[in-house]
Amino acid sequence: MYRRDLKLPFDGMHEECGVFGIYSNETRDVAHTAYYGLYALQHRGQESCGIAVAYANQVRYFKGMGLVPEVFDKEHLASLPEGDIAIGHVRYSTTGASSLLNAQPIVFAGKCGKTALAHNGNLTNTKQLREELIRDNAVFQTSIDSEVMALLINKYSDGDILQGVLRACKLFKGSFALVVMTSDKLIAVRDPFGIRPLVLGKNLDEYIVASETCAIDAVGGNVVRDIRPGEVVVIDSEGEHSYFLEREKCSASCIFEYVYFARPDSVIDGCSVYAARKEAGRILAKYYPIHADIVSGVPDSAVVAARGYSEVSGIPYVEALAKNRYVGRTFIQPDQSMRENSVSVKMNALRANIRGKRLIIIDDSIVRGTTSRKIVRMLREGGAKEVHMMICSPVVKHPCYLGIDMQSYAQLIGANRSVDEICKYIGADSLTYLTVDQLKETCKSAKLDFCTGCFDANYPYALDDYQADKHKFE
Ligand code: AMP
Repeated sequence: MYRRDLKLPFDGMHEECGVFGIYSNETRDVAHTAYYGLYALQHRGQESCGIAVAYANQVRYFKGMGLVPEVFDKEHLASLPEGDIAIGHVRYSTTGASSLLNAQPIVFAGKCGKTALAHNGNLTNTKQLREELIRDNAVFQTSIDSEVMALLINKYSDGDILQGVLRACKLFKGSFALVVMTSDKLIAVRDPFGIRPLVLGKNLDEYIVASETCAIDAVGGNVVRDIRPGEVVVIDSEGEHSYFLEREKCSASCIFEYVYFARPDSVIDGCSVYAARKEAGRILAKYYPIHADIVSGVPDSAVVAARGYSEVSGIPYVEALAKNRYVGRTFIQPDQSMRENSVSVKMNALRANIRGKRLIIIDDSIVRGTTSRKIVRMLREGGAKEVHMMICSPVVKHPCYLGIDMQSYAQLIGANRSVDEICKYIGADSLTYLTVDQLKETCKSAKLDFCTGCFDANYPYALDDYQADKHKFE
């Protein structure tokens, strides 16, 4: 629930977001570029979005609730001036706290003049930082941790935004892929573990930063490289310079980005999301052969895995489910009954393809179990003789508090039931998951190590706020 009273400074929110930034040496329509960049990142957040533009020592912004093309119709996009720098944000919060107040970028007038900030991730020590700031006479308008970040960056900036970012970021625990903009600088920061992705691109002499490479492709840029864990990239009239926060001994990039969250055409830390998903299907076929007539994938994220399974096993790939392409991700629906309904609105069985068949159906993950249960029922009603469910990830047993929507143990079917029990619950003839090592194998070309906390509680950070707020784990 959204805490309107703000009595407890801890907001209990998890963010799934995408960020984008562009720096141009010439004043031009950078808002349009940000618009296309955000459009490409829409899968990372569908509740609200916003763009802020720096021009002539000013920052103008617009943000709203809804999808990028809904919020930025012709008129609202045209209301943003030409400028040199722009940042943008798409946001999906998971606790109903989806008010416009919480939309980003956060724009404020501070010690470095007009400043804007957009953040993807989730801090784990927000409560403590916010309490300290409140004792220091700070006031808060929103319940998002990004506002805490903005206040601390301003507090430590003393006219030098880079110093503010470097000092404040040392205090942040958790995941953050951050873009900060003043009238003459664009700064991009990736947290010391590299939990959330962040990439740097160029288009002639313009610099671009984005959560995923697909956004750089979408605006016609070239991907230069991933921003490194703990790296602070400053882009200004002198070009691009890097600074580093204190580095961690290891990295912990979120493996769930490859499983579900990122777009298949993105490459994260040198590993293609598409290739990783295909490999997951290939590994399932290698280690868990099943006698079946056809193999199929739940659209969209698991289709490529099913093709991988088919290649290795020789079992023909056949489409079992048709997807309504105008429906977004299942989780867009904020409550369980809406979520259950949305599965049948989103997909339907292709009866002629599956009637009388022993079917392997592959999906990327099971979180609550709602989707799989619906899908298995749909396939059986459509005439499938056997339905074998295979999952391209291990059992999700633990909540994520670093930015993916899996908030409490109570929600997670894998935390509360054995694989056999889950199989019974979803009504499948068999249920198979990858192991953590097998999943890591699918993205072995990535340059970073992984956070696998949702599967094995191996998180890079201690639980801080989350332990303090036990109700999340009940
Ligand atoms: P369910 O088991 O009903 O909770 O839904 C699982 C399905 O939702 C998976 O097949 C994914 O396609 C999708 N999914 C998994 N994790 C997430 C997430 N964190 N946010 C949104 N959708 C997700």
